[in-house]
Amino acid sequence: MVNFKVPVGISNRHIHLSQENTDVLFGAGYTLTKMKDLSQPGQFACEETVTIIGPKGTISGVRILGPTRKEAQLELSATDTFKVGIKPPVRDSGKLEGTPGIEIEGPKGCVQIDHGVIIAARHIHMTPDDAAKYSLKDGDHVRVSVPGLRGGVFEHVLVRVNASYALDMHIDTDEGNAFSIVNGQQLEVLLD
Ligand SMILES: [Zn+2]
Repeated sequence: MVNFKVPVGISNRHIHLSQENTDVLFGAGYTLTKMKDLSQPGQFACEETVTIIGPKGTISGVRILGPTRKEAQLELSATDTFKVGIKPPVRDSGKLEGTPGIEIEGPKGCVQIDHGVIIAARHIHMTPDDAAKYSLKDGDHVRVSVPGLRGGVFEHVLVRVNASYALDMHIDTDEGNAFSIVNGQQLEVLLD
């Protein structure tokens, strides 16, 4: 198989909320305001932010990503988890069983979630056409090479395949900083 390039997007800490959470944090029936579209079709960053309150510290200005989901999911970097004082596992998005919760504060109220905090597993979004082209399938793991003085290889990069996706690799700020990666940089997926 021949290697191929993917653009990389660096995700800062962010939170996905349910409509029930939004009602408590921002007021009953509140609709989140789109600030900008994200790389994945239909996904967007909102104008609104919340404060998260952990046993050891708080972080304000945590960006909400829309649209609302079935349940809340807070994605932190490992560095963030030290600041707030919780120990979430590295998990794929949506796999929230056994994860810790946290307190979320908005302008109109607070929500205590009893699970939903993760360090997001590094992953690549792609369409079924991309997957077929590279002989990959949903749930596969690949290695991704980073050039440069602080370069290296990302192991265990999850492949996520869905017709609603666009080709993009997602890592968090700790991973991006460790490898001196800039947003939008093209990285090489190693298929050998
Ligand atoms: Zn992603």
